[in-house]
Amino acid sequence: MVSKGKVFIVGAGPGDVGLLTLRALEVIKAADVILYDRLVSNDILALASNAEKVYVGREVGDDYKHQEYTNRLMLDYALKGKKVVRLKGGDPFIFGRGGEEAEFLADNGIEFEIVPGVTSAIAAPAYAGIPLTHRALSSSVAIVTGHEDPYKQERRVNIAKIASSVDTLVILMGISNIKSIVDELLASNIEKDREVAIIENATTPEQRVTIARLADIVRLVEERNVRPPAVIVIGKVVSLASKLNWYNKR
Ligand code: SAH
Repeated sequence: MVSKGKVFIVGAGPGDVGLLTLRALEVIKAADVILYDRLVSNDILALASNAEKVYVGREVGDDYKHQEYTNRLMLDYALKGKKVVRLKGGDPFIFGRGGEEAEFLADNGIEFEIVPGVTSAIAAPAYAGIPLTHRALSSSVAIVTGHEDPYKQERRVNIAKIASSVDTLVILMGISNIKSIVDELLASNIEKDREVAIIENATTPEQRVTIARLADIVRLVEERNVRPPAVIVIGKVVSLASKLNWYNKR
């Protein structure tokens, strides 16, 4: 009988290989199999020279079946005694379903380890020169999804309520819903001139930053054809980007 393998649920960071942790590199190099998502960069996959690489990126509209398939693969490989790396963009526990996958492994008696990654929610603003907190400008930050589970019964996160109670709002998966998010914010009583930054392809050579006031951002998104993956940041700290945008100035 083969002994059971182990699954490493690993954050690959936002794209720049330099943002991979040493532990992530170590387990990627030792892996037998890598199950990876769409947002994992090729440069990072190239580090796994010997492992079998299986793409398990989700196809839109087929969420549940797709998750079952990924779970099945993790289980099958682990039961064959393999060292499995489940590689995810950013951090596995920030909108990455890492929690669900770890629960599945726990339920099935498979040993696992979580390797945190640098989340795009923090790295994208950092590479755009936007500190999420700042002594004078922001004492609180919230990370929310702009695209909730379409099967979920309740309404989306109450973005207007959050925006009125935290200084800095970071929205992931928000581009396709940007108009409804901004409409909701404009309809609430937060300032119309609150600044918004959108960081596309953060930490990669394709990084592009778009900055505007809340009232103008939707028009700019259309004009510049802003596309996912992108992180949206709303708050006074965005004003620092013009002074601190070190990455695009290099
Ligand atoms: N676990 C990931 C998030 C997965 S949800 C993390 O911690 O970063 C996918 C969303 O992450 C995208 O819609 C986008 O909002 C954001 N994202 C991930 N990588 C990104 C990148 N390189 N640049 C901009 N946004 C990114």
